[in-house]
Amino acid sequence: MPLPVSPEILVVLGTRPEAIKLFPLIQRLQEHPRLRPVVVTTGQHKELVDYVLETTGCEVAADLGVGRPGLTLNQLTSSVVAGLDEFILRRYGPPPAHITGRVKVDHYPAGCIVHGDTSSAAAAAITAFHLRIPVLHVEAGLRTGTTLEPFPEELNRQLIGRVASFHAAPTRANVQNLVREGVEIGRTFVTGNTGIDALQWTAKRSVPYDRPELDWLETDTTSPVITVTAHRRENWGEGIANIARAVRRLTETHPEVRFVIPVHPNPTVAATVREVLEGLPAVTLTSPMEAKPFGRLLARSTLVITDSGGIQEEAPALGVPVLVTRATTERTEGVEAGTLELVGTDTERIVASATRVLDDPEARAAFSRQPNPYGDGHAAERIVAAVEHLVFNSPVPRSSGPGFVRSEVLEWAGFHRTDALDGPTFERDDVTLEHDRAELEDVVLQPLTSDGPTDVVAE
Ligand code: UDP
Repeated sequence: MPLPVSPEILVVLGTRPEAIKLFPLIQRLQEHPRLRPVVVTTGQHKELVDYVLETTGCEVAADLGVGRPGLTLNQLTSSVVAGLDEFILRRYGPPPAHITGRVKVDHYPAGCIVHGDTSSAAAAAITAFHLRIPVLHVEAGLRTGTTLEPFPEELNRQLIGRVASFHAAPTRANVQNLVREGVEIGRTFVTGNTGIDALQWTAKRSVPYDRPELDWLETDTTSPVITVTAHRRENWGEGIANIARAVRRLTETHPEVRFVIPVHPNPTVAATVREVLEGLPAVTLTSPMEAKPFGRLLARSTLVITDSGGIQEEAPALGVPVLVTRATTERTEGVEAGTLELVGTDTERIVASATRVLDDPEARAAFSRQPNPYGDGHAAERIVAAVEHLVFNSPVPRSSGPGFVRSEVLEWAGFHRTDALDGPTFERDDVTLEHDRAELEDVVLQPLTSDGPTDVVAE
């Protein structure tokens, strides 16, 4: 029995990274025969409207225009709440109150998708919650364990974690974080990261490298290429010098290999790299690259040597082995899976591991045989299958993780369950838009002062 809701799904995004990671999902929703994405940009970062249209062909239904220099977090949050509330009420009218039939609710959005941890996403989640629109959180379950680091993103994602009915978590570890906080496992789904979908999509486009020092790469399709990045503070100085020395040694032992190093703009990092590697013909030093050509470069690489966090998730998704030049990594799942090898910053160790990858096809293949725990390029597909299942009760998506259960999500979102012979049906519970003023006025705060409690009527 279909749900009594319309097939429009709100997708709210505020920043460029959200747009990069959400466009594969918007694309899939657009291709879907019954669901329709309604994209709203908050204006936190400019140019998103054009980016969404460019990558997805999807018109942005509204730009809330809240971005301006110097905006405080509270101003941003309140502007997004007010702007999105107004947009939804104007487009759909008030939330369905006292509804029992399906006709009346057909005009109301079936869900609101937010991504990650921005203030735009947190504000949008709360707005949707107030209007009784189920919140679907993409890239759910990342945690550092303190609300102050990163600030305010960690609290944003924890807040969204409380509000959301459905959590699309990139990995099983992310699901464990949510379960630890009391989220029922049945409201979670392991999907992989949509960022990997985006990377695979862009890596296939023939974007030009667009810089003279990489012209050779437009035509050279055979030389093995090693891409190297290094920027982490704990590697500044000796660590980065050791990595550069390993590259120099490898140019001597493997003259057929070409090295591409987008050098981090930090002067300390750049000086160290240039001192060891400047002038070596096999080494191309370049400035940091745009995301699309960098994705193309990763896909073209035989091996990546890096201390970056994001690249540890990205390169394995393109089947490229990664040597991680750090003592520890928070991407332990990749190390366990065998898509990453932790080599630290010891020159000998880096040279030995790189030599093994270059000389032994079996060792190289062993990296790419393993599924990438951060995503396989099908995250958006899984999320849309889950949304389809939630909205239309279509077949349960192929299991990805512990135990996604439709009824748990819908009941959490406030849908009323009725059991019938042909299975349960779900309807939105009665909703009242206006808060009961009298109820609010009854709230009395009791300040803890030595003079004893004083009655204060809440605003
Ligand atoms: N990246 C890029 N161009 C570059 C180097 C990196 O677009 O020249 C991308 C990379 O694909 C990754 C992101 O920048 O998604 C972050 O990488 P970085 O190494 O700067 O930082 P971390 O992930 O450690 O925060």
